[in-house]
Amino acid sequence: MAGQEGGIMAKKGEHRITVGLVCTVCKNRNYVTTRNKLNTEEKLKLSKYCGHCRKKTDHRETDKLK
Ligand SMILES: [Zn+2]
Repeated sequence: MAGQEGGIMAKKGEHRITVGLVCTVCKNRNYVTTRNKLNTEEKLKLSKYCGHCRKKTDHRETDKLK
């Protein structure tokens, strides 16, 4: 045991960007998430539930929010 207990992973995310996820059908931004630029180079594209379309649709990343 090297006594490495609870190493805090959050190191001031300079590589973390905040992005929105918009429904590709109705263009509403339904989700906000963060992405680590280093780990994930390509833009996010996820199938998520859209409250406007009331079904699962493709969501894709928009530019960072701020
Ligand atoms: Zn939608």
